[in-house]
Amino acid sequence: MYTLGGVDEAGRNMMAFEIGEEIVICDMGLQLSNLVAHNDEVDKMGLSDLVEKNIVANPEMIMKHKDKVKAIIVSHAHLDHVGAVQYLANLFPQAPIYGTPFTIEVLKVLMKSQRTVTSPLKNKFIKVNVNSSFNLPSGIEVEFVNVTHSIPQAAIVAIHAPEGVIMYANDFKFDNRPALGQRSNYQRLKELDEIGIKLLVVDSVRSNLKRKTLSEIVVKEMLRDIFIETDIVDTKGVVITTFASHITRLKSIMELTQELNRKLVFLGRSMAKYCKAAKNAGIIDFKEKDVIICETPAERNKWLDIVNKNKKDYVVVCTGHQGEENAVMSKIAEGKTPFELKEDDKIIFSSEVIPTQINIEASQILHSKLEAYNCKIFKDIHVSGHASREDHRDLLGMIHPKHVVPVHGHVRLKEGMIELAEELGYEKDKNLWVLPDQGEYEFK
Ligand SMILES: [Zn+2]
Repeated sequence: MYTLGGVDEAGRNMMAFEIGEEIVICDMGLQLSNLVAHNDEVDKMGLSDLVEKNIVANPEMIMKHKDKVKAIIVSHAHLDHVGAVQYLANLFPQAPIYGTPFTIEVLKVLMKSQRTVTSPLKNKFIKVNVNSSFNLPSGIEVEFVNVTHSIPQAAIVAIHAPEGVIMYANDFKFDNRPALGQRSNYQRLKELDEIGIKLLVVDSVRSNLKRKTLSEIVVKEMLRDIFIETDIVDTKGVVITTFASHITRLKSIMELTQELNRKLVFLGRSMAKYCKAAKNAGIIDFKEKDVIICETPAERNKWLDIVNKNKKDYVVVCTGHQGEENAVMSKIAEGKTPFELKEDDKIIFSSEVIPTQINIEASQILHSKLEAYNCKIFKDIHVSGHASREDHRDLLGMIHPKHVVPVHGHVRLKEGMIELAEELGYEKDKNLWVLPDQGEYEFK
């Protein structure tokens, strides 16, 4: 196994598994905080610059074996898992890119908006549904096990290597009441246990939380409480900011808005892109009669002007919950749109601040601007998409892997997973591996 990125950090996930004469790459993600820090220069960057600035993983370690790469597998459509495909996949043009239909649709949208000077991809895109599989040229089966996360059609990747199954569970949560899609396929995980799991690579970024991650249905009820039940005769504006990729959340907001008899407006390019990918993948079609989707700044301003004159008839959803300077939420807060914030307008952050210095500072600036209007602010109306300690306990209890590799965060974030594994009898450097971002390992 080669660790390339996303092991000792949250972001730019990428690793590779060597099985006989074949190499399988799992994920090619972006380090989003580094991307934001260099946002103005990214357009002009080549691959070496992107690697040097730690925006994408360094693929050097596998370049000497690049002809052995037979598959690039993307586990789900978050940018820290798929965002670097557009820059790195063409180093392995012979390797098809496998993902679930939604993930591939998102990738195609990303390709269209490619920003840098790297050459177009020659790789084939292959859609594989969750709970189904494909074969590598050698005949080795690779399976996508359905798992819940904060984006549709996430998969646990199970590679049926001759010496046991390699399981890549990065990212996941166990949501037993998902607001969209199916519960995780516990049955199949138990069956894979019977076959024998040799290695588990596991998203451990929330393992310090001694709890189970709450279901997405909880957020729907929190939203209902805020914008339906607390103020039923409300004539004020409602603006919700959330993750553009969180299709389930957008669906919940749509359903609640319909209960309120208001019209829903989605603002922003990324919101439009993910909605399109969800439609193309057959997950949900946000129809014009239910949602007005504004892609361009001109459309946005046109509709915000209409909303501003009839606030009681609309709910607005926009990007910018992390205080991003150019996102719609910041523009509204700065009075740069026709939507005039007034006292008692409701601003709902259906998100949490991603704890990087850039995001913390930008969020503080945004909140102080919003507070100046005396509007009602609701923060943290959100549940995470990542497993907590008790979800990890459930996973380990189901699959009993021989070796465990916690990933997706600095060691202080993964301590919970390490503690849990030790509690269950694993030992560091024997069958529990706390690895750096770049390394080559063999597991016996
Ligand atoms: Zn994710």
